[in-house]
Amino acid sequence: MQRQKSSIYPKVKTIYPRWLWHECRFCNKEFKRENGFKIIDYKKSRAVNEDPLFTSYCCNKCANSIEEVIEKIKKQDIRIILKNYKRSCE
Ligand SMILES: [Zn+2]
Repeated sequence: MQRQKSSIYPKVKTIYPRWLWHECRFCNKEFKRENGFKIIDYKKSRAVNEDPLFTSYCCNKCANSIEEVIEKIKKQDIRIILKNYKRSCE
């Protein structure tokens, strides 16, 4: 029996916020009463050594599926890593 490794973080869920506004981590717009994504990130929080869960949100304008959200997060992470790397070289 085989399966995909389950420890792929971050975890992304689809949500439909009815009452609360959620801020998209990519475009910083708030959304409610439409589909969006909840991102539960363990990796990030372990690095900051704070709350064990780092929760952020993504609106449906920035991504259409869970896979797209994960792709966007990966790209964003790489950009942050590159930025830090450049800074350390200056
Ligand atoms: Zn967005």
